[in-house]
Amino acid sequence: NEVAARDYIQAVYETVVKRNPHENEFHQAVKEILESLTPVIAKHPKYMKHSILERLVEPERLITFRVPWVDDHGVTHVNRGFRVQFNGAIGPYKGGLRFHPSVNASIIKFLGFEQTFKNSLTGQPIGGGKGGSDFDPKGKSDNEVMRFTQSFMTELYKYIGQDTDVPAGDIGVGAREIGYMFGQYKRIRGAYEAGVLTGKGIIYGGSLARTEATGYGCVYFVNEMLQAKGLSLEGSTVVVSGSGNVAIYSIQKATQLGAKVVACSDSNGYIYDKDGINLDTVRRLKEVERKRISEYVNEHPNATYHEGCNGIWTIPCDIALPSATQNEIDEEMARILVRNGVKAVGEGANMPSTLEAIEVFLQAGVLFGPAKAANAGGVAVSALEMSQNSMRYSWHFHEVDDKLHTIMKNIYRSSVQAAEEYGHPGNLVVGANIAGFIKVADAMIAQGVI
Ligand code: GLU
Repeated sequence: NEVAARDYIQAVYETVVKRNPHENEFHQAVKEILESLTPVIAKHPKYMKHSILERLVEPERLITFRVPWVDDHGVTHVNRGFRVQFNGAIGPYKGGLRFHPSVNASIIKFLGFEQTFKNSLTGQPIGGGKGGSDFDPKGKSDNEVMRFTQSFMTELYKYIGQDTDVPAGDIGVGAREIGYMFGQYKRIRGAYEAGVLTGKGIIYGGSLARTEATGYGCVYFVNEMLQAKGLSLEGSTVVVSGSGNVAIYSIQKATQLGAKVVACSDSNGYIYDKDGINLDTVRRLKEVERKRISEYVNEHPNATYHEGCNGIWTIPCDIALPSATQNEIDEEMARILVRNGVKAVGEGANMPSTLEAIEVFLQAGVLFGPAKAANAGGVAVSALEMSQNSMRYSWHFHEVDDKLHTIMKNIYRSSVQAAEEYGHPGNLVVGANIAGFIKVADAMIAQGVI
């Protein structure tokens, strides 16, 4: 059975590579998941019989569209918009929108594929989707961002809805962009459909604790991993890459739980502050002033700024929380982290470690919280935002935060259990993938050939 399962998985993977040429990120995400499913496929012939993997790797649909917009000088630009509706077996498609120049079909498909399993793992009724554009919000005025997002939504609105597909934020899409998109959707639809987007402002239907959810959830997850080994965040040294929404609230929660966070970064470089990063400064620079992280050292002369992003992983730490972007930790950086004594890694970003880096961490016995599990708190609270919108009601901060905490504990527990049941005790990559997979696969079988 094991051999048949391996052959089946290899064949599906080869078809993916052939059918989606040059889409390296998508291949990487598919490879990681398919390989870890070997013991499930071997144990349950039904998945092969129902061609579940062939169906899972093919998105239900991928929509691409033109996004024309006019800059402040009156010049017209054209960007490309995407929405992938990957899998709707367990609920409306759900997943963020990413605005970044690197966005293409491969990036959107890898994110949508990952999202399908992540969303299943949260225990909430949400399918997998993702979208975005190669638009670069960096250096654009408020008005330019508004005109772009309005144009983007003027096309996207046809495909989304609170019961069909519910976008949210991701890299380059925060409260400001969600606000402009919500306003435009509402004008076009002529109705107040609160649940069509999540990550909304609190005053018009957003959920308390949604902003904090991904970062807090990631730290809650790491805390579970540490506690199981008798370790704790108290007194530990932490390195967090990135300085966006995920990084900021990871830093806040880790600090609240007694850790010292000594570094964070943006796409140009990183800062190192041996006394512990001053989060107020980082938040003002990044959230309010939209400046570069290098400015931090002007206000904190004891800190140092270093060009380039990789170097952040050479800082000795107990816990690493990669929260910037995909493939930010390669094999070499993983080895350096291990050599410097890293005890735990929690992936705040999506697919921040390469396949080789993951192998290095697992071989070295580092506690490794894969993205699908560790950063699922964001989308989990998005699902809670949808629930609140449906009820036309809102929960208090502590109610949402408590639910988030419970969800992260459940994700940890189901990943540990699945890893154990299928012969890879302690391997949360395998555990998270299997736990996420079973629910989606069984729902697909129950619903016939879909
Ligand atoms: N972009 C986030 C993620 O990667 C959140 C998605 C959502 O809230 O829908 O999970």
